[in-house]
Amino acid sequence: MFVRRSAPLLVLVVLLLTALVFCLKAEATSGASAAASARASSGPVASALRRKHQFPPPAADTRQKATPEWIAPYREAAARLIGEALANDAAWQRLAYLGDTFGSRLSGSPNLAAAITWALDEMARDGLENVHAEPVQVPHWVRGRESLEIVGPIPQPLVVLGLGNSIGTPPGGVEADLLVVHSFEELEMSRDRVKGRIVLFNVPFTTYGETVRYRTNGPSRAAALGAVATLVRAVGPAALRLPHTGTLVYTDGQPQVPAAALSAEDAARLQRMVDRGTKVRLRLTMEARFLPDADSANVVGEIRGRERPEEVVVIGGHFDSWDVGTGSTDDGGGCVATWEALRLIKKLNLRPRRTVRLVLWTNEENGGRGGLAYRDQHESELASHVMMLESDGGVFRPRGFGFSGSESARARVRDIATLLSSLDADWIGPSGGGADIGPSVQQANIPAMALDVEGEYFLIHHTPADTVDKIDPQDIARSTAAIAVMTYVIADMPERLR
Ligand SMILES: [Zn+2]
Repeated sequence: MFVRRSAPLLVLVVLLLTALVFCLKAEATSGASAAASARASSGPVASALRRKHQFPPPAADTRQKATPEWIAPYREAAARLIGEALANDAAWQRLAYLGDTFGSRLSGSPNLAAAITWALDEMARDGLENVHAEPVQVPHWVRGRESLEIVGPIPQPLVVLGLGNSIGTPPGGVEADLLVVHSFEELEMSRDRVKGRIVLFNVPFTTYGETVRYRTNGPSRAAALGAVATLVRAVGPAALRLPHTGTLVYTDGQPQVPAAALSAEDAARLQRMVDRGTKVRLRLTMEARFLPDADSANVVGEIRGRERPEEVVVIGGHFDSWDVGTGSTDDGGGCVATWEALRLIKKLNLRPRRTVRLVLWTNEENGGRGGLAYRDQHESELASHVMMLESDGGVFRPRGFGFSGSESARARVRDIATLLSSLDADWIGPSGGGADIGPSVQQANIPAMALDVEGEYFLIHHTPADTVDKIDPQDIARSTAAIAVMTYVIADMPERLR
């Protein structure tokens, strides 16, 4: 097409084209970033993608919600604690250092022992008071090497992760035909076919509480009917062929068989093969075994109360982890967030009326002996425990706290939570507690709390993917802030929480 040249027209065309190209580019860029932010909108992996390390993060809701009158004197301290927690990524950096330096921290491992020594030194450096270790003897289970292969029809390896506290196999492994079941009822109905088989519990993950019983009790249930080994479909949502470890419990008086977790993908694959009528033969090899019990410790640091030091508010997490990953979410994050909360209270010179005690418990994962030892070693002062808080559900974006206690105490805690509205963490749920505070809480009927967060905890729980990159620095900072405010006010309020 011929266009008569004229200078003004040419300029106009160039301008229009430039504008068009610019608009298209802008569209493409914003489209790409919208798609990226949509992809990165949820989940721990997504958090890692969208991490920007911006501090302070934007407040969730700047409108001050109505706070009850008795809370008013705590507004300033709460604002200072929140401001200090959100000022930088100190909590995330400490958690990253813990995981990068010491790695996983299974009970009895030199890694856990070294991490305990480090924590004691660091707490002293933070200026915490009465920093000490409280000795606990812990079981010492070691995994050793392990493998699972399809022997026939065509030999090939599968991804496997032995269950904690499992026995090992003979050196050459256990080789047997596969039997797949989907429930304990189906296991019972198949009882004539269990003997001599490797039994796979192929139960899709629903909730942890519902599905974990196949990991905990499945091995003994199958062994009772003559199985030679047990496999359990990973207790967690399907994701990138990840098996999840976790403890099993052998039933007294039943034969013990080795047991391991399979990824959801491998379980589904074996299921398809069996459904096609293929006879699948497997070989499981595990070196897992127990060594003699080992020395370990609960780590304790405090700020002594200024008026009623004998009354104690306990906060903490468990310092041990499984031996895969770096235990950053389970439960390095809970340890560091509670620790940082206490450090900030100390740093701001907010010495509360009562003592705040930080406890990093040992051996939650495969024995629970840290929580039992705390109850026994502190039996005489449990009646003076005002509240115990455990953070063991991840330090993703905090929503608030679960609480267990009297209705009057719940009302107080709800009032305190109004100080957390700027964090969007003012929700108080129906029940709080934790595996480590459980023994003490039950013995002395102590009000119990747990940090409540929004995040895909069970996606990475007990897997090699439990590493610090799944945790957003802003989220652990917010978790720290929420714990610091809740803890400080409960420790300082004129009347004891009852
Ligand atoms: Zn845990």
